[in-house]
Amino acid sequence: MPKASKNELQSIYQDHKVQLLISKFVSTKLEAMNPIFDPKRGVRYPLVEVVIGDDSNPEKFLEKLYERGVLKRKLYDKIIHCPSCSSANVSIHYTCPYCKSFDIIKRALIEHIKCGYIDTEDHFQKESKLVCPKCNKELTNPDIDHNRAGVWCSCNECTKKFDIPVPSHFCRECETHFSFEDATYKNVYTYSLSPVTKKEATIGWIMIGPILDFLKDHGFKVKSPGFLDGKSGTSHMFDITAISGKTKNTTVIDLSTSDDVVTEQSVISMFAKIFDTNPEKACIIAIPKMNENGRKLASLYKIKLIEAKDQNVIIEALKECIKK
Ligand SMILES: [Zn+2]
Ligand SMILES: [Zn+2]
Ligand SMILES: [Zn+2]
Repeated sequence: MPKASKNELQSIYQDHKVQLLISKFVSTKLEAMNPIFDPKRGVRYPLVEVVIGDDSNPEKFLEKLYERGVLKRKLYDKIIHCPSCSSANVSIHYTCPYCKSFDIIKRALIEHIKCGYIDTEDHFQKESKLVCPKCNKELTNPDIDHNRAGVWCSCNECTKKFDIPVPSHFCRECETHFSFEDATYKNVYTYSLSPVTKKEATIGWIMIGPILDFLKDHGFKVKSPGFLDGKSGTSHMFDITAISGKTKNTTVIDLSTSDDVVTEQSVISMFAKIFDTNPEKACIIAIPKMNENGRKLASLYKIKLIEAKDQNVIIEALKECIKK
């Protein structure tokens, strides 16, 4: 799989659209995103259209994320496009190898095992029964008294008979007939989060995107990163600042992540900023959890502590927080 360096990946993860897409995978526990087929437009990924807007190019967006190692992919289907108008509204025609007409009839071949007679099914059909035209015995048991011995085609145009027709394509939009040789034959993929992204989505900054969206949906004006001026004259940076539309109160949020346990140091440095800027509410999100000292200090400093493994837990905790 092609890959971006760690720094490049970090900058891709900062892209709000990328954060949103990853967050959709995580919040809906989506393992693999399959394309849907639209006869007019070809392959579509509705989830991506929601994220980037449907006049953009979802396939290009996904391709780019695959190339950078954000997503992985698997071949899901192959789609035929018309070489003249590039529509995917294409049907397959089985044609006569002699005159190229698609006006052919396909019939099953039946073999009467006892007498060895082989012919097409229509010659055996007598009312609703199958009767051998050679020995006049009725055939009742498939696989015991008769076999299906393949298919046999006949052409309504030139009346010739053959067993293997030649596939050809017909564009329903511009009515062009074309062969496999001329067809545009395109790979279609199913996408899922790469292992790196999966890990990042549970411990990293990708979670900022969904948190911002949640706060905006609840009437907050958000900034990330956000800055507040302190009494000391210093401007302090928080991962998120959110101003309530109703009360005009300011909430500051910092995220602190660790592979294991977040230490009290993050609480101490947040307190220093709060002490200077005095926001109405402060919240620290520890991913995946805070150590015991950090918990005690957060409670002492009146910093709301959220310990979370993934964005779903954070959003739930923020809901509680907003109610209060
Ligand atoms: Zn066409
Ligand atoms: Zn023919
Ligand atoms: Zn027979």
